Amino acid sequence: MKILDGKIVSQAVKDRLKEEVNILNKKNNRTPHLAAVLTGNNGASETYVSNKIKSCAEVGFKSTLIRHNDSINEERLAISINELNDNDEIDGILVQLPLPEHLNEEKILGLIRPDKDVDGFHPVNAGKLMLGLPAFIPATPYGIMLMLEHYKIETEGKHAVIIGRSNIVGRPLSVLLSRNSNPGNCTVTLCHSKTKNLEDICREADIIVTALGRVSFLKAAFVKQNAIVIDVGITRVIDHSRKAGYVLKGDVDFENVAPRCSYITPVPGGVGLMTIAALLMNTLKAYKDRKGFV
Ligand code: NAP
Repeated sequence: MKILDGKIVSQAVKDRLKEEVNILNKKNNRTPHLAAVLTGNNGASETYVSNKIKSCAEVGFKSTLIRHNDSINEERLAISINELNDNDEIDGILVQLPLPEHLNEEKILGLIRPDKDVDGFHPVNAGKLMLGLPAFIPATPYGIMLMLEHYKIETEGKHAVIIGRSNIVGRPLSVLLSRNSNPGNCTVTLCHSKTKNLEDICREADIIVTALGRVSFLKAAFVKQNAIVIDVGITRVIDHSRKAGYVLKGDVDFENVAPRCSYITPVPGGVGLMTIAALLMNTLKAYKDRKGFV
């Protein structure tokens, strides 16, 4: 069994980015610039955004954090996003989710200019991804593809079972893994809460991706010998013995599943770190796609 180590792979991606940014910065006298929009005081969102901002600094990107309080209305948030759309100094925009309940996420994400949509959630990017056209790929599935590529994992002809069909993880990953590319060329089964015989389907899988947010959902009995298991789930479980007061848990019963696997990702230290690396890759793409910055 081999651990797919998000720390090692994300660092390798960041090292490559840092080198490239250094050259581009000298050439264009301008570095990639990410704007993060944070609305409200959700603790997990604060942590995610602050990690993204730190990672920008690590690779030499500029970043700007725009904070709004959770009572902001859609009109004011739209004005803020449009200002970023029109600002030539900004290459990429991300709106941290979830938004407060009174705001319509779909509507807000649809306001981001598609060529600055580094999270890849805009319908234009989702449609392009579906058609196999160049697009911003949502960071978590993109990060998983980067990880498979790094470890040179052969995916062609494999049966991949993805549990979870969200627009940010499971569904775009199903498109990527079924593409005629490398990694890709899998036969994909996309499962969800209404799937029947999920355990039997999992037992047939060469690759299982869990993206549902249920602690220790995937048991050893669902996993065939030598399967590849990728755990996207992140759930905060209260643990007063920890300084933070919680511990992060994945969707996989790691202790019992790992011995059956050829490869497995840990939580934390797996896909989560790759998500940030992929966001940085998308921000560089946004910068490079702009006229004059090559
Ligand atoms: P989501 O939008 O809540 O979607 C969850 C999916 O899981 C849904 O498709 C749901 O089915 C399915 N599901 C729920 N219970 C199920 C069950 N018992 N059996 C089969 N399928 C079931 O979640 P998400 O945003 O994709 O996030 C999923 C997990 O990944 C969360 O823990 C989240 O924190 C984590 N996450 C991690 C990263 C990272 O960087 N590592 C990034 C994003 C998300 P229905 O569609 O039928 O409801």
